Amino acid sequence: MLYEPCYWNIMHLESSLLLTMNDQSILLRQLPKIDLAVNDLPLEVVFDIPPAIVKSAVRGTIESFRQRILSGVITSLPQGQEEWNTIFTAAIHKKNSPNLQKVLNGTGVVIHTNLGRSLLGSETMQALLTAGTHYTNLEFDLDTGKRGSRYSLVEEIICDLTGAEAALVVNNNAAAVLLALNSLAFGKETIVSRGQLVEIGGSFRIPDIMTRSGATLVEVGATNRTHLFDYERAITEDTALLLKVHTSNFRVIGFTSEVSALDMVTLGRAHGLPVMEDLGSGSLIDLSPWGLPKEPTVQEIVNAGVDVVTFSGDKLLGGPQAGLIVGRTEMITRIKKNPMNRALRIDKFTLASLESVLRFYYDLEKAREKVPTLALLTLSPELIKKKGQKILRRLGGARKVKDRIQLLPTVSKVGGGAMPEHGLPSWSLVLQPGSGGASELERFFRTLPVPLIGRIEEEKMVLDLRTILDDDLSLFVESMNSYLQREPS
Ligand SMILES: *Cc1c(COP(=O)(O)O)cnc(C)c1O
Repeated sequence: MLYEPCYWNIMHLESSLLLTMNDQSILLRQLPKIDLAVNDLPLEVVFDIPPAIVKSAVRGTIESFRQRILSGVITSLPQGQEEWNTIFTAAIHKKNSPNLQKVLNGTGVVIHTNLGRSLLGSETMQALLTAGTHYTNLEFDLDTGKRGSRYSLVEEIICDLTGAEAALVVNNNAAAVLLALNSLAFGKETIVSRGQLVEIGGSFRIPDIMTRSGATLVEVGATNRTHLFDYERAITEDTALLLKVHTSNFRVIGFTSEVSALDMVTLGRAHGLPVMEDLGSGSLIDLSPWGLPKEPTVQEIVNAGVDVVTFSGDKLLGGPQAGLIVGRTEMITRIKKNPMNRALRIDKFTLASLESVLRFYYDLEKAREKVPTLALLTLSPELIKKKGQKILRRLGGARKVKDRIQLLPTVSKVGGGAMPEHGLPSWSLVLQPGSGGASELERFFRTLPVPLIGRIEEEKMVLDLRTILDDDLSLFVESMNSYLQREPS
């Protein structure tokens, strides 16, 4: 169809391109033929690379040139075989390298949803390794020799830590909310405050999840204020659940009012209705001693009598992606029996890493040491500054270092979930962009062999050292050296 002359004319006229149809067809005819191009590649380029990858990369490259000719983005082609081979080689190497790769997080955002949220410590990785490379008692009860339940491996630990009667773990918190609503309120009404009908990043919207769960949403109150009587008035014989949602990445400030979990529980009890809370982050530790906001812990919510609480495994908890559902036995049993549960179940890797992380929480000091998310969140500014001084020492004291890299106090963010915008005092390396400006420098770091992701502030590149791991200091120093070498100051 692309070769149909009349189509070309229309495209050509509409985008008022300078190329004539004739120029385009000449360029298209000059594109290399896939098989010939593959044969012409130097042996050292294709050595040890699966032919399927080579061919696909070459085909993709030629196709992308074809598209760019047709859309008028390019008006000339690489000259000669050598130039083409350089382009093919880059494409082949890119295709032959893993898509998921390590990056250095210089954003200072500890729970960075786009950069993989929580990290796992080395002991936790050991548990994963065992689960992956050996047979395990995943669903085998070693006491009875009979079939066991995978959930029993972590349920007791979760109950110990949260004070809940029962617990269940599914794929992520979005799944936890969906499953709980479907189990407890299918075909019935669920009452939610208008101020809590939020969208969490990645298209998780409470109203949409509610619809998909088969529960009917009954909105009460106003965006900024909802009172207990709003919930009370909305209760009918079709009501199945009172739902409270942590607004996470959204804040209503000023003239506001929200009903406490405790008051909702009192109301629920009076009408024989269960109360559910989607906590989002769900911290097991009060982090306020380390300068973080006082958020209710999961234990506190369970203690308030909330019947079902859901939260993420990879936000403040610092574990693998998972959705934890804790609460009263009667409710959790109903959720466990839901056939949908099987579709949302966690795999052995999640179980292995989650158990490992949860066990650290029996001892608070241990948790802070072994759970990287907690360690990074509670890292003192003094230690971050020391990290910066160490990096600067390793770069040497040359003039060009001092002129182009400064160690300055900045603010890092918690990220994902309950306190995304909360600022933590930190230290950053602040880099002068060269003639290309800050966005060009950002691109430079982003396209390094190990990409370094930072943030731009006031036309300078800011690399927050809170989230640069000690293990990665050498790599980080290397990136700084590449930066220093790239433009003479
Ligand atoms: C993050 C969040 C979710 C989604 O959790 P995932 O684990 O990312 O699926 C749901 N509700 C709230 C309140 C959240 O903060």
